[in-house]
Order: sequence, then C-alpha cells, then structure tokens
Amino acid sequence: MGGKNLLMVGAGLSGAVIGRHLAELGHKVTVIDARDHIGGNCHTERDGDTGVMVHVYGPHIFHTDDEEVWEYVNRFERFMPYKNRVKTTVGGHVYSLPINLHTINQFYGRAMRPDEAKAFIEEQADTSIDDPQTFEEQALRFVGPDLYEAFFKGYTQKQWGCSPTELPASILKRLPVRFNYDDNYFAHRFQGMPENGYTAMIGRILDHEGIRVELGRKVTRAEAAAYDHVFYSGPLDGWFDYELGRLGYRTLDFERFTHDGDYQGTAVMNYGEVGVPYTRITEHKHFSPWESHEGSVLYREFSRECGPDDIPYYPIRLVDEKEMLSAYVDRAKTERGVSFVGRLGTYRYLDMDVTIREALDAARAWARAEELGETPPVFFVAPL
Ligand SMILES: Cc1cc2nc3c(=O)[nH]c(=O)nc-3n(C[C@H](O)[C@H](O)[C@H](O)COP(=O)(O)OP(=O)(O)OC[C@H]3O[C@@H](n4cnc5c(N)ncnc54)[C@H](O)[C@@H]3O)c2cc1C
Repeated sequence: MGGKNLLMVGAGLSGAVIGRHLAELGHKVTVIDARDHIGGNCHTERDGDTGVMVHVYGPHIFHTDDEEVWEYVNRFERFMPYKNRVKTTVGGHVYSLPINLHTINQFYGRAMRPDEAKAFIEEQADTSIDDPQTFEEQALRFVGPDLYEAFFKGYTQKQWGCSPTELPASILKRLPVRFNYDDNYFAHRFQGMPENGYTAMIGRILDHEGIRVELGRKVTRAEAAAYDHVFYSGPLDGWFDYELGRLGYRTLDFERFTHDGDYQGTAVMNYGEVGVPYTRITEHKHFSPWESHEGSVLYREFSRECGPDDIPYYPIRLVDEKEMLSAYVDRAKTERGVSFVGRLGTYRYLDMDVTIREALDAARAWARAEELGETPPVFFVAPL
C-alpha cells in the first residue's frame, strides 16, 4: 500500500493524535494550524518573567478512566501527580467544591455525619417538583433553595449568560453532592499534570519523520482537493463559510495579572455570585506543585457570547443550535475527502481524554476503510 497524502487541519490533540497514528502507518501527514503554536486550546507556555507554566486558554487538568489513553499520554510526557481541588468564594466565605460533607457542614454551621447530612439535604429538596424541566427545577429538586442559590445559580448564569430557568434539566444529571469529605473534583482513576506542559507533550506526538507542521496559516475548503484525505478539527460551520449561520458558542476573556508570592493559595477559586463579574480566578503556578516560583501569574476568567472574531470555547447546544447543527451535519455528509473531528468539528464539549480516545478510534477506522477500499466516514462520532 502506498502512503497517502493527508492533511490535518489543526495542531491540537485531535490533529496531532490522528496525524501521529497515520504517520506511523506510513502515510505522509501535513498538519496546519492557523495559530502560531501547536497544542490547540491545551497550549501551555512558560511565562518569561516568573517562569510559571501558564495554561494559555484556561486551566486544563488531565483525568481519565481510559487505560489506553493514560498509557498513550505517558508515552509522550511524564505525568506528575495532581489532584484538582476547587474552592469557591460565596458571601464572604470560602467553601470546598464539589459540594461535599465539609461544604454542607460549613455552610449550615453543623457537624453532621453522612447519614444525617443525607436526610437533612432530602428535607431541603423541593419534592413538589415532580418532573424537573429546567436546570433550576432540577437543582431545587436535588438540593433545595439554599445550596442552589449559593453554589449553582450565579455561577451558571455567568457561565451561560442566561437564567438557569432557560437551561434544560439534563445539564444536571445526577445529585451534585457528596456525603463524605472527598474533595477530589474528578472521580476518574487516573489524574495528573504533564511535567513540561501540554504543548511539550503534543510536540512529541507530532515529532515523527512522516509529519510536517505548518503554523500561522488558516486552511480553506478549496485546499482539500490537493490531498487524498483531510481531517478537519476546526469549527464545522467555518468549513462551509457559515453559509447556514453561526453555531452558538460561549467565549472566554482572560484578564491576566501578576502577584508577588501566593495570591490565593490554590489553583482555582470560583466566584458564584452574580455581583462578581468573573466566574473564577486561576493561579497557574499551583498546577505545578513540584515547581517553586516567587512570582505568580493569574487569570480572571469572564464568560460571554462568542462573536465572529472571538475564540469559540463552549458549544451552547440548545434547541436552536441543534437545529442548525442538524442542517450542517446533512451538508457535511455530501462532502467527499474530508472527515470532521474533535471538539469544534463535531460541535461538542470534549475533555482531553475523550478527544484522544476519539482521535485514536478515528485514525483506526480511517485506516481500516482505506485498506478495504471503502469510503471513510465524514463523522466517526455522530455530532447529534
Ligand atoms: C476553558 C477550557 C478548559 C478546559 N479544561 C479541560 C480540563 O481541565 N480537562 C480536560 O480534559 N479538558 C479540558 N478542556 C477540553 C480541551 O481543551 C479539549 O479536549 C481539546 O482542546 C480538544 O482538542 P481539539 O484538537 O479537538 O481542538 P482544539 O484544541 O480547539 O484544536 C483545534 C485547532 O484547530 C485550529 N484551526 C481551526 N480552524 C482552522 C483552519 N481553518 N485552519 C487552520 N487551523 C485551524 C485551531 O487554531 C486550533 O488550534 C477544556 C476546554 C476549555 C475550553
């Protein structure tokens, strides 16, 4: 089998992992990214003044239950032990998240044991809500008004730019409370931080003789014809020049500031009140607890509607967006020689481990189709 000439649009995790897999199978891979760096939204870089490793597009913690994915990332970078422990400031007090026994006891000024706290929260829950339709109803049904107001209402409103009464109940699937003192934000078996940052790891994934990387250039649909196949990890609607409209996203603004010493004593501090315009403050040096830095780099994070010139971060995926998405999916299915991958190509929020899992599966599925002489799928995972 002769190697094919393949293009990866995007040098984030999707483009890098698919590109690496196919280069190892003997294909000729070109990776192009519009940005002047690799790594996509996982990009990390050391701050020139303080030496702190900064998560440029917002905090990224690696966590997974997928053993193959965990082995995969460890093949390219040493992962240091890291547990994500998030705090929130509400009403002049600092609480532990996700809501756990410590949060409940602190919030109500009590010393309840697990069973007592469970019974107490059940008393708070609004059992008159039979069939919760909205995020607010679901939260009230689970935890009652006090915890809802303190920990969900303001944060959700700031994050999504609308009232929790306008969001579907499905966002809050399970009871968001732990009746023990476990404050590890993620429940996955494997969790850690790449010793030298995500960009170093992705650089090593891309470091293969069959891969050529080009930065600082946006790929257009017209260029696809020059390749045997294109894996596109950019925005689905962008591929079609937004001809059916723009899929809705939330974007983030990061207000960077520095501090001498330790500003907040932890990596992530949420601010749940609507009166505080930002959703959280990230202190980047706490993501690398094995390093030591005098200075500190911090981000205040603001969430707002994504405009045409902004970076799309979180897909909104409410009823209107799903209708437009469905039209784009139909449109995409008439394309030849291109597959849509990753978080933007399929308009879904994807954690890094899921992105890698899907990228490995996509590369394998493409290689199989190629071997059998079949047309490769336009989507390896259905966006809807
Ligand atoms: C604020 C935030 C926090 C997150 N935190 C976590 C976390 O803690 N843990 C976790 O597991 N995951 C986290 N994620 C998810 C993580 O960022 C994604 O899983 C990952 O970035 C997806 O990789 P990707 O390659 O699909 O997309 P991206 O990283 O978005 O890469 C796509 C690349 O394509 C390029 N591109 C697009 N269009 C074109 C074009 N036409 N021509 C050339 N280049 C183009 C873009 O410049 C971009 O670099 C977070 C995401 C966000 C937004």
